[in-house]
Amino acid sequence: MANRFVDTIRALIPGGRKKPRAVQRREIPRDQHNVSRSMISEPAKKVLHRLNKAGYEAYLVGGGVRDILLGTQPKDFDIATDATPEEVHDLFRNSRLIGRRFRIVHVVFGREVIEVTTFRGNASDDDGDPSDDERRTNEHGLLLRDNVYGNQEEDAIRRDFTINALYYCIRDFTVIDYTGGVEDLNNRQIRLIGDPDTRYREDPVRMLRAVRFAAKLDFDIEPDTEAPIRELAPLLTHIPPARLFDEVLKLFSAGFGEKTYDLLRHYNLLAPLFPETVRALDNGEPDELIRQALRNTDARIAQGKSVTPYFLFAALLWPALQAEWRRRQDNGDPVQPALHGAIEKVIGRQIQATAIPKRFSGPMKEIWELQMRLPRRQGKRAFATLSHPRFRAAYDFLLVRENSGEIEPGLGQWWTDFQAVDERRQEQMLTQLSSSEGPAKKRRRKRRPAKRPADS
Ligand code: ATP
Ligand code: MG
Repeated sequence: MANRFVDTIRALIPGGRKKPRAVQRREIPRDQHNVSRSMISEPAKKVLHRLNKAGYEAYLVGGGVRDILLGTQPKDFDIATDATPEEVHDLFRNSRLIGRRFRIVHVVFGREVIEVTTFRGNASDDDGDPSDDERRTNEHGLLLRDNVYGNQEEDAIRRDFTINALYYCIRDFTVIDYTGGVEDLNNRQIRLIGDPDTRYREDPVRMLRAVRFAAKLDFDIEPDTEAPIRELAPLLTHIPPARLFDEVLKLFSAGFGEKTYDLLRHYNLLAPLFPETVRALDNGEPDELIRQALRNTDARIAQGKSVTPYFLFAALLWPALQAEWRRRQDNGDPVQPALHGAIEKVIGRQIQATAIPKRFSGPMKEIWELQMRLPRRQGKRAFATLSHPRFRAAYDFLLVRENSGEIEPGLGQWWTDFQAVDERRQEQMLTQLSSSEGPAKKRRRKRRPAKRPADS
């Protein structure tokens, strides 16, 4: 219906528009799909109904539809509408306008945020008005702004993958598919909409998204979608570090971290995210610790536990830190200053690729520094280390190092026991430690020369 209207309008536009792939509207009625209202969160339904009531079109789109069709619980719900961001904002007091590159509205219900986007328009890039402030690309084809609005069909073909461009209409319970997304879902394929080369250049993050969905859904990346990735991977260096930081978290905290890591390496996508790590690995540094950490993280997520970004980054940068730490010691730096220098250097380099907010880089440093303190337990040291706010994370990190074969097992078990026993037993453990390892070395105090009076 609306589609025919669009085609009529299109026919009237001089030159028409190039369609990258046959676009055909298909409506899948209620009895031929498994999306039911009970799987959609109350807030998402509220937003859909209120938009509809106010006379706007509104559809569930993206991961919300995709995951329900696959029989899994969506992580969050995205809504597409023909209301402008300002109109959406006016309709919901609990909403805020965000973004510049893409203006969108967040409607906030406690901890749940419903993302509402206005239908994007302007499917082809060659309408080419460079002064057009609402849609701009740079000399690499990178999309700087995309705030031209359109209709549902145009919106569909501006989305990334066919499986992410399915719409659910809560008025008649149909699923609407313009790009063959249902077929790709059935064939378990990640397929970019349009010309892959152009779409990756517009937004290189789509390469990371392809990998993320392939790992999470256990789908294949369709050959044409896969083909340009290795070559275009370096384009990710044009993406602002803060956005890449967010993407790294999404990549590694979805519960399929190890698989994601393998795919990133396979497609040359790890290098733009962790250049120093990849350099260290290429020079023979092992990645077993990264794998072990990601395996642990995946297991934690499967148990519904949280993962902390600083632990992830501590692991992902460990090979780079090890290499730099060793290099400095080989150059004659003592162990401790070598470590501190290496930490600063590795972080300094990393934040040029992905930002690391201070609230994460601080604890990450502490995890690393504590690795040197964990073996030194004599006297009051064990208690001091135990009461360090980052002890738990550092201890977990130590276990990962042991399990990955980087260091001999033993110390981890000692700390496991030390935490489990009462204070008396702890004292005994420390005494045993001293007797088995000999008395704690007494530091020889260097006598400071007595200060001379300033005027002598
Ligand atoms: P998730 O389960 O991670 O939320 P999602 O598919 O919903 O997956 P979002 O990041 O929430 O991903 O984005 C919502 C939708 O917006 C996507 O499904 C896709 O249609 C569209 N989208 C997101 N990022 C891009 C992009 N970089 N280029 C084109 N379309 C995008
Ligand atoms: Mg989503």
